[in-house]
Amino acid sequence: MVQLKLEIKAELENLANFQPQGGCDDPDFSYYFKLKCGNCGEVSQKESCVTLSEMVDLPKGRGSAHLVQKCKFCGRDGTISMIPGRGRPYTIEDSESQEFAPLMLFDCRGFELVEFYFKDGWVAESTSGTKYKEINFLDGDFVEYDEKGECPVGISDLKHRFVVTK
Ligand SMILES: [Zn+2]
Repeated sequence: MVQLKLEIKAELENLANFQPQGGCDDPDFSYYFKLKCGNCGEVSQKESCVTLSEMVDLPKGRGSAHLVQKCKFCGRDGTISMIPGRGRPYTIEDSESQEFAPLMLFDCRGFELVEFYFKDGWVAESTSGTKYKEINFLDGDFVEYDEKGECPVGISDLKHRFVVTK
């Protein structure tokens, strides 16, 4: 078992912060990633996804997890559970100091997380207070014009990493 903390980094232009729609612990925000089998090392072909409000029961009454998956290569089962309360919005201060900020903590059994996909469901607020909803990165960077602040706003150079925590 290993706990992996997802951390993100971005270049914010005239944006005070950026985060999932309802915050890092948004019950309906989906985190997309790929899984690497801890047994054979195979990386899953398809993306997997977990959502805080959606849990599945484990076989034999061993509790529940946010994802139960079987490695297509060696057949070993693994589970992923989310641990809320560890993330925070990514801020302009983070961006200016080129720091990563924590988003979500994952308890991984049998699998490791590799590759996070930003996709959609993000919100941001400009330094002048304008709010942007339903931001997605499906076609690349986010670029807008802030009428109130009379300046361009944007999110670019998205990066992520998984940090092993104890
Ligand atoms: Zn495997």
